[in-house]
Amino acid sequence: MQNPLLDASDNDQEFERTLRPTRINEFIGQKKVIQNLSVFIRAAQKRDEALDHVILSGPPGLGKTTLAHIIANEMGVQIKPTTGPVLEKPGDLAGMLTNLEEGDVLFIDEIHRLNPVIEEYLYSAMEDYQLDIVIDSGPNARSIQIELNRFTLVGATTRKGLLTAPLRARFGIDMRLDYYDVELLQRIALRTASILNMGITETGAHEIARRSRGTPRIVNKLLRRTRDFAQVKDMDTINDEIADTALNALDVDENGLDEMDIRILKAIIENYEGGPVGLGTLGVAVGEDKGTIEEVYEPYLIKEGFLQRTPKGRIATRQAFEYLGVNPDKIEGN
Ligand code: ATP
Repeated sequence: MQNPLLDASDNDQEFERTLRPTRINEFIGQKKVIQNLSVFIRAAQKRDEALDHVILSGPPGLGKTTLAHIIANEMGVQIKPTTGPVLEKPGDLAGMLTNLEEGDVLFIDEIHRLNPVIEEYLYSAMEDYQLDIVIDSGPNARSIQIELNRFTLVGATTRKGLLTAPLRARFGIDMRLDYYDVELLQRIALRTASILNMGITETGAHEIARRSRGTPRIVNKLLRRTRDFAQVKDMDTINDEIADTALNALDVDENGLDEMDIRILKAIIENYEGGPVGLGTLGVAVGEDKGTIEEVYEPYLIKEGFLQRTPKGRIATRQAFEYLGVNPDKIEGN
């Protein structure tokens, strides 16, 4: 997926790792998810068992990878990370699974992109901690069974709708992360600034939070860029003014909407008179996969009141018209 604010360079990825909360009590927001997860972790520890398999879903940059690491830390086990598309052959999966110690976490990011053959192998591994592998082919083909240590599979996905029903059914713990509100993002900005020894005022943090599209990863990225602007001006503290200057220079919209958000709203308003327009048609109009629109872009636009989902398709709200400076009454049908 192309998203200039979310796609991270190697440098940014390193930076993100250093900012990742490592314990559950450092994780800001997602209150319900954190409360439930704490109970499940404590219960598993009391029973001296591996934690049940966990599926984490939600738009990018909200903390799924962070939570997977926190789960392993809290359980006191190792985490072995991989991603769906990397596991190409059954041997790749077998290699990962047989390397797991008792209770370890296997983290599969983008689990919706798993090869269906690998997925089949995963079923018995998740359920019975066994791997049935067919070796050789033709008349010599035989199946061997490998016993595995009990492990926790943590899967992360931005596209939960693409998981097959049998895979979904094998996760005992199902958690969805939602966009953060401004107050939480402000706390995240203050936390990041303090880790990086950066001065920042409450209002400076608020300005960045307000324009970060509900997403912690964007907060961290914008904070880092704002620091550059402050440093060039020899300022040792980021205030709302320099934050505003930096964000304007970076073309970050007042509401934090990104280029694709705007393109979606413009397409609905300019090409389809404000809608309703079907998701498939909209996808073609903006050049984005319809599933990505549905699971990555649309939830934020709905949450912010720019878009409505109706049985006939997507509609731009009056707020979206106003935002783009178009008079809704001038459009036929409104
Ligand atoms: P993706 O699926 O796109 O990789 P993700 O949902 O796994 O995204 P993370 O990589 O876990 O997102 O989080 C992005 C960054 O945001 C992390 O480096 C971390 O610094 C920060 N972050 C995420 N959630 C929180 C939080 N609740 N509190 C503080 N920082 C957070």
